[in-house]
Amino acid sequence: MSRFLACLPALTLCLGIPPIANATEPPLPPPLKALILDGQNNHDWKGTTPILKKSLEKTSLFKVDVATSGPKNTKDFRPKFSDYALVVSNYNGAPWPMETQQDFVNYVKNGGGLVIVHAANNSFPQWPEYNEMIGLGGWGGRTEKDGPYIRFNEGKVVRDTSKGNGGSHGAQHEFVLQSADSDHPIMQGLPKAWRHTSDELYDRLRGPAKGFTLLAYANSAKSTGGTGLNEPILFTIDYGKGRVFHTTMGHSTVSMNCVGFQTTLNRGAEWAATGKVTQTVPAEFPGADKVLPTK
Ligand code: ZN
Repeated sequence: MSRFLACLPALTLCLGIPPIANATEPPLPPPLKALILDGQNNHDWKGTTPILKKSLEKTSLFKVDVATSGPKNTKDFRPKFSDYALVVSNYNGAPWPMETQQDFVNYVKNGGGLVIVHAANNSFPQWPEYNEMIGLGGWGGRTEKDGPYIRFNEGKVVRDTSKGNGGSHGAQHEFVLQSADSDHPIMQGLPKAWRHTSDELYDRLRGPAKGFTLLAYANSAKSTGGTGLNEPILFTIDYGKGRVFHTTMGHSTVSMNCVGFQTTLNRGAEWAATGKVTQTVPAEFPGADKVLPTK
């Protein structure tokens, strides 16, 4: 706080002006530093990164920087992850330099928060530590060698080790998410079911899924080209001392223009950065019958 602001209550008293109502309240803590990674993606990262940034910053909890890799190679890509409480990956592209990979592993292992958004889970199929951090991934030659499928049947997470490719989706459509863990800080106060706006419903993801907690799933309807199974949509991974929140939603700017998407993103981000969630659920959070675009 500047010296002028610190003196403000005394000054207002001396001028006979009533002190401002919150003058005695403790100042808000400084926002947490967050970093979004982008620069390569088979999705519209130039359109979606500003939505992620705005969503996080409107909570007043985060101050967001963006680190953008080169469009083709990444040789100069070396963000200082350790300066941040949270890293959000909107990146799906060429491998990073070994030093950057090591910095990233150390960052999460030492307690850094990480959020994985949609196609970020397609990235780096050959990088074992990354696949442990994200829990589940798709495409890039992922098969049973990379880990099980995760299903949710009769209230239980099921690891399905059957053979097959990892990563698929049917036609984009609205779908209903079902909470699988209402007691988790990210999920507390959210309805048991809510409708998400039109998006790809990722299915058949595979990975090590160690330290895995399923937060929400959706049934991938065969009528839209899906599996007919309950597919994980929101989940967390414990990696070393770090916390990872993974949302498979967010294919496009349309998919992110959704109160459900942004509320869960913001809550997952706070949890990944701090281990707690202090945000209240917006009154307009969607129910199972309708979607709601953000304002
Ligand atoms: Zn997509």
